[in-house]
Amino acid sequence: METIKKLFVMIEIRDQQVMEVSYQLLALAQQLKQQYKSIDQSKEVVAVVMGHQVSWVVDECYRYGADSVLLVDDKKLQYPSTQHTTRALVTCVEKHCPEVLLIGATVVGRDVAPRVAASVRTGLTADAVKVEVDSDGLLLMTRPAFGGNLYATIICPDTYPQMSSIRPDVFEKHEYLCEFKEPEVVEVLFDEVDQIEVLERIERKSEGPDLRKANVILAAGRSMANYLPLVEKTAELMNASLAASRGLVETGKVSSAYQVGQTGVTVKPSIYIACGISGALQHTAGMDQSQTIIAINNDPDAPIFGVSTLGIVGDAIEVLEAVQKHL
Ligand SMILES: Cc1cc2nc3c(=O)[nH]c(=O)nc-3n(C[C@H](O)[C@H](O)[C@H](O)COP(=O)(O)OP(=O)(O)OC[C@H]3O[C@@H](n4cnc5c(N)ncnc54)[C@H](O)[C@@H]3O)c2cc1C
Repeated sequence: METIKKLFVMIEIRDQQVMEVSYQLLALAQQLKQQYKSIDQSKEVVAVVMGHQVSWVVDECYRYGADSVLLVDDKKLQYPSTQHTTRALVTCVEKHCPEVLLIGATVVGRDVAPRVAASVRTGLTADAVKVEVDSDGLLLMTRPAFGGNLYATIICPDTYPQMSSIRPDVFEKHEYLCEFKEPEVVEVLFDEVDQIEVLERIERKSEGPDLRKANVILAAGRSMANYLPLVEKTAELMNASLAASRGLVETGKVSSAYQVGQTGVTVKPSIYIACGISGALQHTAGMDQSQTIIAINNDPDAPIFGVSTLGIVGDAIEVLEAVQKHL
């Protein structure tokens, strides 16, 4: 009988909370499992949980799409160093030889993923925004390339696991309520990495809004740099969160915490209003999944109109002033 190959998802826990991207990747792995099914291949979604006293995470993994769970529970993973997390994940990979390994492209994931790839001698597609299965069962992993000016789809046909770190908030988490099974406990030898010990973690306070949760976003581009009070006031009256293109961030008038796009945050609000934003691919990569996109630009050929639901060709300053009169 053919053994069922595994689709691994690294579950990232920070400050006793599971990072949302881990649940999003469980949902992605379930979608991939369905795609494998359509080419007659059976797969199992496995959540890899690593931490200290983290058995409470197991239930959550089944809720959000794990078919089974591997558990590495060790005091050394309470404040894990990159090396400890890598060691634990590599041990799980070497034990089970998964077909696929998905890791959230968070600060931790971006650090761990290449180390794991190098340790198990496979390739890594970093910062992917789309993952699919082709008719031969290979993963098609798509990521921005050449400064974000085009998307490259990458395959890893010769080595396993096929590995990708995935941008947070590109995929949606979903409740699957999978059947509970006792997790498989994996023991890890940390001897080689024991010279490193993290004593404490001090979180830097975030200086901007959590745009990922915003329902309405008013985003401004470089051309709005001298009209920020107008933009901020309009956002306040509309009960919208303020966001920015990198063009505006580069003027130094807005912090990078407000930046939407490939090197900023990915957002999916109900309404995204882009004021004086050209619509470069690197910007739209972070907002084109918004439900309704309203673009205001004085250039009728601006690329932003290519992704907008509603386009207003005109001076954004005049439009915002007119809008304010009605609020
Ligand atoms: C590796 C890499 C990563 C990047 N990551 C990001 C990212 O995460 N996010 C991001 O945004 N960019 C990113 N960029 C930069 C991106 O390529 C663009 O340069 C940037 O988005 C441009 O910002 P902008 O549209 O505000 O400015 P501009 O390109 O200067 O466009 C200004 C727009 O405003 C319009 N305009 C001018 N005056 C008015 C007016 N009065 N009323 C209405 N419209 C007006 C103009 O017609 C123009 O379309 C990245 C680039 C690289 C190379």
